[in-house]
Amino acid sequence: MKIGILSRKESLYSTKRLVEAAQMRGHDVSVIDHLRCYMNITSRHPSIHYRGENLVGYDAVIPRIGASVTSYGTAVVRQFEMMRVFSLNESVAISRSRDKLRCLQLLAREGLGLPVTAFADSTKMTRDLINVVGGAPLVVKLIEGTQGVGVCLAETQKAAESLIEAFSGLKAQFMVQEFIKEAGGADIRCLVIGNRVVAAMKRQANEGEFRSNLHRGGRASEVKISREERSTAVRAARTMGLNVAGVDLLRSERGPVIMEVNSSPGLEGIETCTGKDIAGKIVEFLEEHAKPGKTRTKGG
Ligand code: ADP
Ligand code: GLU
Repeated sequence: MKIGILSRKESLYSTKRLVEAAQMRGHDVSVIDHLRCYMNITSRHPSIHYRGENLVGYDAVIPRIGASVTSYGTAVVRQFEMMRVFSLNESVAISRSRDKLRCLQLLAREGLGLPVTAFADSTKMTRDLINVVGGAPLVVKLIEGTQGVGVCLAETQKAAESLIEAFSGLKAQFMVQEFIKEAGGADIRCLVIGNRVVAAMKRQANEGEFRSNLHRGGRASEVKISREERSTAVRAARTMGLNVAGVDLLRSERGPVIMEVNSSPGLEGIETCTGKDIAGKIVEFLEEHAKPGKTRTKGG
């Protein structure tokens, strides 16, 4: 197969591993910087150009699109789809999962476990917003945050009020969420490929910290997950329409609740702590599914 990896940098761990895995299986693989692609969208024969070359003959692409360039990145993926190239994750699924509010609404509609969550754009009804999620302690999150930045725990009603007022004053979009105390500063990352969880790790926050992000000093270890956790992760990925996803769960008293569904899950943490060849499994998925002309959408 001829496979393109849409990634800004060849030196990134996940990109390197995917290249290695594809080469090991005898595929012709290249890394394409999506931000340097330019496209003819008007022609009957949609095309993508890269460094003066017309990109043709690809069987599949693996999008590794950073959150800050979702719009242009998904446009490039969509263009490949218009050319009937199979994308590991479809453009529309990537956009769906990147929009946090849309993502939570879709998961809620499927009846999947979520922390009680409220969001507002600009409201003066601070107290009522707090009541909607059942009062303090609660978590206030910036919609645009990543790696745990902008995720704050308000232990008291007063702290919650001043946090919400501060975020409202900054005109930042945020959500207010029930604090899942019993998770004990840990979350579970489930790596879903197709209809299976192929690996799972637990990330435990540092002492005195409730955010388990590795960037915030969390430690990762392999974890055995329950049948309910497994099915929640698979259903979450399917709801987003993602073939490959990193689904983050918290263990709450009422079962698994979903934090986030990532469309470009990092491979380094999970491969290192589980010893599994996730990149290889992703390439195997393509071998099975990337039959020419099999793309379901034309870039919806
Ligand atoms: P980011 O997308 O920036 O990583 P998250 O929403 O995933 O932000 O939050 C970061 C971490 O904070 C989570 O992995 C989890 O450990 C902790 N956390 C977030 N929300 C809650 C919550 N409602 N209850 C308990 N812990 C939470
Ligand atoms: N690489 C990020 C992670 O695995 C996710 C990126 C995304 O899809 O938003 O946490």
